[in-house]
Order: sequence, then C-alpha cells, then structure tokens
Amino acid sequence: MTSITNHMPTAELQALDAAHHLHPFTHGSDLAKKGVRVITRASGSTLTDSEGNEFLDAMAGLWCVNLGYGRPELAEAAARQMKELPYYNTFFQTTHVPAIALSARIAELTPGDLNHVFFASSGSEANDTNMRLVRTYWEQKGKPSKKIIISRKNAYHGSSMGSASLGGMSAMHAQGGLPIPDVHHIEQPHWYAEGGDMSPEEFGLERARQLEQAIHDLGEDNVAAFIAEPIQGAGGVIIPPETYWPEIQRICDAHEILLIADEVICGFGRTGKWFGSQTLDIRPDIMTIAKGLSSGYQPIGGSVVSDEVARVMDECEFAHGYTYSGHPVACAVALENLRILDEEGIVERAGTETAPYLKEKWETLTDHPLVGEARIAGLMGSIALTPHKESRAKFAAEAGTAGLICREACFGNGLVMRHVGDRMVISPPLVITKDEVDTLIERAWTALDVAHKRLTDEGLM
Ligand code: PMP
Repeated sequence: MTSITNHMPTAELQALDAAHHLHPFTHGSDLAKKGVRVITRASGSTLTDSEGNEFLDAMAGLWCVNLGYGRPELAEAAARQMKELPYYNTFFQTTHVPAIALSARIAELTPGDLNHVFFASSGSEANDTNMRLVRTYWEQKGKPSKKIIISRKNAYHGSSMGSASLGGMSAMHAQGGLPIPDVHHIEQPHWYAEGGDMSPEEFGLERARQLEQAIHDLGEDNVAAFIAEPIQGAGGVIIPPETYWPEIQRICDAHEILLIADEVICGFGRTGKWFGSQTLDIRPDIMTIAKGLSSGYQPIGGSVVSDEVARVMDECEFAHGYTYSGHPVACAVALENLRILDEEGIVERAGTETAPYLKEKWETLTDHPLVGEARIAGLMGSIALTPHKESRAKFAAEAGTAGLICREACFGNGLVMRHVGDRMVISPPLVITKDEVDTLIERAWTALDVAHKRLTDEGLM
C-alpha cells in the first residue's frame, strides 16, 4: 500500500476516507458525495486544511483545545513519558508517578473537598463511572433502592449506553434503545426557546423546582443523584437564568441525593474561572472532567469526588476500571497542560481580559437582523437565529436549516463556528487574542449576512 500522507491530493484522501472511515454524528453517504474536509495542521487558534485554507477555530476543536494548538512542551512531555514508562495500569495495587501527580494537582485545583480522582479516557467513560459509582455509594450506605439518576432533556453527557442515557438528546435515544432504566429527565432551563411569557427569573425557578417535584414523585428513597452541566454546551450553550442554580443547590441540599456537575466543557477555564461550578456557585459532590484537562492533546477524563464519597467508596472494592484509567502518557500531558494554563496565567487572562472583551463584541451581533439573542459566559457563547426578534419566532424551514446554512457560510469565510439547531455556538481556545476576537466577529457578521440573503432568497424565513 502506498503511504498516505499530508502531501497526497485532497481528492485521494477524501476517497480513502469515504471508503474506510466511519465518522461520528455524520450522514456517511451525504458526506462522501460532498467530500470531507481534511485538516492537516494547526497552530494557536488557526487550523489549516489540505488545500492550504486557514480557519479561525472558534470551537477549540470539540470544545477542548483550551491551550491552543501546537505547544511543543506537551509533545515533549509525551515523548519523555513514553520513553520512561509508556504504559502501566493502576489496577491490582499498583500506581505510577504521573497518576499520583495528576490526581494531586486536580485535587488542588478543584473547589471544596473534591479531592479524589477516578480516571477514564473520556467524558463518556467518566459519566459511566459516575452512574455505577453513585449506585454503589448508596448500596454501601445501606440504601440500595437509591438508583435513579435525574438528568435534563437536551443535556449532553456522552455517547456510550450509560452516558447517552444520562443525556437528554432525543435523536440519540431513538437509536439503540435508550435510555437504559432508572434515568429520569426533567425539562431544561432554556428560557429563549421555552420560557414563553415568563421572565427569565420566574422561568429559572420553575424549571429548578421540577427537580424537587421529580424527587417527590419518584420518592427520595429511589433517587441517587442529579446530574447537569453548569452551562449546557452541546445543547446550544444554554446559560440558565440566574435563579436556576441557587434553587437547584437548595433542593440538592434539602434532599439526600448527590449532585454531579458535568464539567467536561465548563472545566479548566472555559467559563472564565477554573470550573463552571465556581462561576455559577455550585457545590457538587462529584465532577466529571475531560477535554480541557489535557486540552485535547491526549484522551483523558475522570470523576472527581468529595471526601465523603471517597470515604464510603473506600470501604468496598469498586469492580470498575478501564485499561487506560490514569494512562501515564495522558497524565503527563495533562499535567504539563495544567502547568502552562496556570503558570502563563491563561485561565486568569481568559477570565479577566479576553472574556469581557469577547462579551462586548459578541453582544454587538444582536444588531444583526437575523440574531434574536446573544449569550456568553467566559469563552463559551451562543446566538439564536430568528426570522423575527421580538417574538423569538422559528423559521419556516425545518429546524436546523438556518443554522446549517450559517455554519457553511462561516466555513466559506474562514471561521469554524458550530450550529445546534438554529443556534450558533462558539468556544474558542482560551489563548485567542483580541485581534482574533475582532476577526471572529467580522467573519461571523459576514456569514450572518450570507445566511440572511440565502434564507430570504430561498423563501426559508
Ligand atoms: N459531557 C459533556 C458535558 C460533554 O460536552 C461531552 C462531550 N462533548 C461529554 C460529556 C462526553 O465526552 P467524550 O466525548 O469525551 O466522551
């Protein structure tokens, strides 16, 4: 077989990809007809494709490259670790220095008494750990009936059987017989789409109180935990009304259930502080982490649990673990990533300088005729596309059409911005510069113009 490299013509790479590579969340034959985009290099916040086109990556990959692309220190940390100890497991009474050092560092960074880490290789795996862990925790405490985990519609917690069941994506549940038993979904705090005539504050309280109602209906003795993203990411960067989280915290405190904050996106600086729980003043018993932990340079995730949860779990043998739990190379890379994020003041600067600058610019997009609202927290933001701002109306076209048109226009204009239905979302690397923020806004505006024209011309408004 001829060697396949970056230097091959794009068409040949596309044909091979179409012939052999099954893509996540992709309609395969549609993509094969169109031709996949081949990304070949990246540096800072910029991606380059096989045709030499450059894109400002306003999504940091999949919400993960917090540090930006191309940091040689991480490659060196990986190479050093591979030479010294490329692999060993943490089962059967052994450990290694990278896992010790990373768990200790995570314990320092996470708030409160979240001092103990169970490693995984992804957010999905970590949430599967959480499902088994909370049920085992309650069994250990002599309350085996506490099994149900309450989650929210339109939440995203991963793609495995367990984590996709926790998630509230109906299109995912429709495939593969989900959700698995003992997962219950309440409504999401998405005021723009579902708030009707209520004020955001009233709506936030109403949605939070659904948790208390669900605990009441299901029976507190049957509920193990509530899981939520501090800010929903894949659901469309839904920043809840200010009344929501304090009420959720009150309800979790008042009832005997564990609170799991899924920080896979919000963690490691995304919301302007180290964790979304700090930005939104949440006190979880368990945190799910992944993505920004290694800035995506290595696959790694984990569940960080409180002193009390660890104390109870330490009284049994938890029959759970992955071959790559605490993989030494992934741990070494994550440690180096955390060192740089901290020592170079990247999280600090993202919160105090870049976020306010981006917020000011991002909110100017509401002047565009197609934009109904612009929301942003730290470096994760969204805009809602609408044909009629005042009524927050939906388009005549099928939901998601306008978003898709806008996303294509972004790509055509050197910007990676994702769409979730008819919301456009951003989550740029934390190292994005102010000049790049200006470019992001200019390109987003141009893409909105292109989308507006197409939607009008094609009668889709
Ligand atoms: N939780 C959240 C909040 C996520 O956004 C994601 C991924 N987008 C996951 C879990 C799953 O993580 P992974 O894709 O690493 O399995």
